[in-house]
Amino acid sequence: MKALLNDRRVMVVGAGSCGEGWGNGKAAAVAYAREGARVIAVDRDLEAARATQALIQAEGGFCETVAADVSRTDDIIAMVEAAMGHLGGIDVLHNNVGIAITGGPEETSEEEWERVLRINQTSVFLICKHVLPIMRRQGAGSIVNISSIAALRWIGFAYSAYTTSKAAIVAFTENLAAQYAADGIRANCILPGLMNTPMIHAPLTAAYGGDAEAMIEKRNRQCPMGFMGDAWDVANASLFLASDMARYVTGVSLNVDGGFSLRAAVG
Ligand code: NAD
Repeated sequence: MKALLNDRRVMVVGAGSCGEGWGNGKAAAVAYAREGARVIAVDRDLEAARATQALIQAEGGFCETVAADVSRTDDIIAMVEAAMGHLGGIDVLHNNVGIAITGGPEETSEEEWERVLRINQTSVFLICKHVLPIMRRQGAGSIVNISSIAALRWIGFAYSAYTTSKAAIVAFTENLAAQYAADGIRANCILPGLMNTPMIHAPLTAAYGGDAEAMIEKRNRQCPMGFMGDAWDVANASLFLASDMARYVTGVSLNVDGGFSLRAAVG
């Protein structure tokens, strides 16, 4: 059977993981490579990107790494140039970078607000700005942006900068999808629900009362299925949206949340 992404050129931005185990971006990069893609793993943390690269190469896949901080425009331009140097094109762009800072307007400083919006939201605009001309020239492309269910719902604690940045990604993606549909470029969002990935541990434990074990238990209880999803749930949904299996799917927000968003109360 033909692999889903045979020889597709994929750039995963935020392809490392902030801790041991599987983050969403790391799992997506490995999933793409397993389906035959040639992957550029971009991360601010080059060691984290190299860890992803080592996993892909150990399975016989193709992966090059690029160090870039997506809060910096010059890094974004350089990373797109590096990807073009390695691959000569970009068929799939996967925007995974996101930082989590909890708190409402009174608890969030102006600097934190601007940092979250810059890293989570403005970076997606800037990366698309520099990748879209390439996809337009190719006459094809697929963009997968990682938002969050927090863009739609109160998830149990104040999270104003993060939710704002993630809601903007949904609106931005829809607008992009409409503008570029006739160019053969699709753009979709994934909204992960409560996932058990390394990124939740440090920033969210305090929001759940300070105890990491209790945080995991409480988040599991908040999920209708009784357990959090993991990075592979997001990676598998990404694979679908990135591939030709989704050739007629654009502008959607795919909730990967085990039914979390169906509930009015989160307990
Ligand atoms: P992660 O933190 O493990 O990995 C993200 C990677 O991005 C890290 O390797 C980090 O070094 C990199 N990064 C951070 N800031 C960067 C910057 N300025 N420039 C370049 N790279 C940078 O997280 P993950 O598990 O891969 O997933 C993160 C995405 O999933 C985020 O967009 C997050 O909002 C979203 N999400 C997660 C959950 C969850 O419960 N885990 C839920 C909803 C949405």
